[in-house]
Amino acid sequence: MWVYRLKGKPEELEPLIPELFDRGSRGLEEREGEILAYFPAPVELPFGGEWQELPDEDWLEAWRRDLRPVQAGPFYVLAPWHEVGEGIPLVIEPGMAFGTGHHETTRLALKALARHARPGQRVLDLGTGSGILAIAAAKLGAEALGVDIDPSVLPLAEENARRNGVAVRFLPGSLVEALPQGPFDLLVANLFAELHVALAPRYREALVPEGVLLLTGILREKAPSVRQALEGVGFSPLGAEEEGEWVLLAYRR
Ligand code: SAM
Repeated sequence: MWVYRLKGKPEELEPLIPELFDRGSRGLEEREGEILAYFPAPVELPFGGEWQELPDEDWLEAWRRDLRPVQAGPFYVLAPWHEVGEGIPLVIEPGMAFGTGHHETTRLALKALARHARPGQRVLDLGTGSGILAIAAAKLGAEALGVDIDPSVLPLAEENARRNGVAVRFLPGSLVEALPQGPFDLLVANLFAELHVALAPRYREALVPEGVLLLTGILREKAPSVRQALEGVGFSPLGAEEEGEWVLLAYRR
């Protein structure tokens, strides 16, 4: 087995994930400032990463063995082969889509959902990936919709929702496709700062008056630009949380 190690900023690396899978990657690991993509053999890739051959062991077995469940607020995020622990279980098949609970931004969003989501609310998870945030909202009693611009993640998100015994709707697309399903009481989006800035007016359209907006995927130094865009279209701050270099901003419409 070979690993392709690619360094960069999260917002640069993330759009490459579907292409790495398309070119034959069997699994991905996201670390701070880099992605490790596992391949049976090296392939030509135009991204400037480095190849390394792994020792002859069952790499998938090793990776599965090393993966640990994660606690985020009241949630206990685990893989299907882990034993259930303390908290609200979120069973997520790791590796194939972003959203395993091992990234700071996912954990920030889970904790914020636990604080703000209420039973019966209509929740939109924009950029659902593995479906983890929509599934978490459904576990809190909300009526959740997950959308993603990458349609290849949606079967995984659906499978994860089934595993967790919750009914969640998933649709391909972005905010434009989700708007006719709204307005929503709460919108959670783990994307990146520049996209939040561009979508700020649309977030207003998507929410009911007094609706709650939870935005993450924001590096600390980029938070001021997101705040400015949101406050410029009339959102009121509810608070902010940080983990490592990442920020979550909570706002009320
Ligand atoms: N929600 C999961 C979490 O918090 O762990 C996954 C977040 S992941 C950082 C971002 C996801 O958003 C990816 O699955 C990506 O395909 C999707 N995405 C990127 N741009 C988008 C857009 N404009 N509209 C909808 N989804 C988008």
